[in-house]
Amino acid sequence: DVGRFDGSFAMLTDINQRKEMELLLEESNRRLTELSNMDSLTGIANRRCFDATLEHEYSRLRRSKSKLSIILLDIDHFKEYNDCYGHIMGDECLRQIGKVLSYYTNRNVDLAARYGGEEFACILPDTDIHAAVNLAERIRQRIEDLKIDHMESPVSGFLTASFGVTTARYSSERSPTEIVAMADKLLYKAKVSGRNRTEYAEFQGDELADM
Ligand code: GH3
Ligand code: MG
Ligand code: MG
Repeated sequence: DVGRFDGSFAMLTDINQRKEMELLLEESNRRLTELSNMDSLTGIANRRCFDATLEHEYSRLRRSKSKLSIILLDIDHFKEYNDCYGHIMGDECLRQIGKVLSYYTNRNVDLAARYGGEEFACILPDTDIHAAVNLAERIRQRIEDLKIDHMESPVSGFLTASFGVTTARYSSERSPTEIVAMADKLLYKAKVSGRNRTEYAEFQGDELADM
């Protein structure tokens, strides 16, 4: 029966087209997820991805009993940089710093993100305070070594950044937000004590130990 034969061919073509559409849709969804987790200027993770990753890593910490470190950094006198060299050059600085961070957070579990504006953040699972401070200092030095002219900066003739570093174990008394708030407090301390430096402190049990 010729009619039935044609019919099955038509159905096969239908199935193939549908498979192809599904594959395209899958790829486009994957790409959308990727984009929604990425900062478009620097190409590194964005704030949304940072928040989700920290939440995930913190819940993992609960089971592993290990430590997690956070690095928060903020470019020094960046408003003056923009005023002096222009927003386009400012954007280029942000890209360069994004590259430095990607380079230094090279373990699979590490995450470097643009936290907002001229502020960046790293999540370092299974990392103690000493290793985290060491990494922050290497990043700080590398940024200085880029030798990006910043003649309006009272800190140095070049672009610099200030760092806050903190380390915590899991505690039911402590939320990821509090850990970030602590890194922010330390970053502020680095700012007021002269900039282009790293301040750090580790949570001990439920308290914070100054080191
Ligand atoms: P401090 O050393 O205390 O951090 O001083 P600051 O000037 O860096 O800090 P402030 O918060 O006063 O200014 C931040 C500046 O960062 C102002 C804003 O225009 C600039 N900025 C934020 N996001 C971007 C961006 O996407 N591109 C550029 N070019 N500049 C940005
Ligand atoms: Mg800032
Ligand atoms: Mg700044």
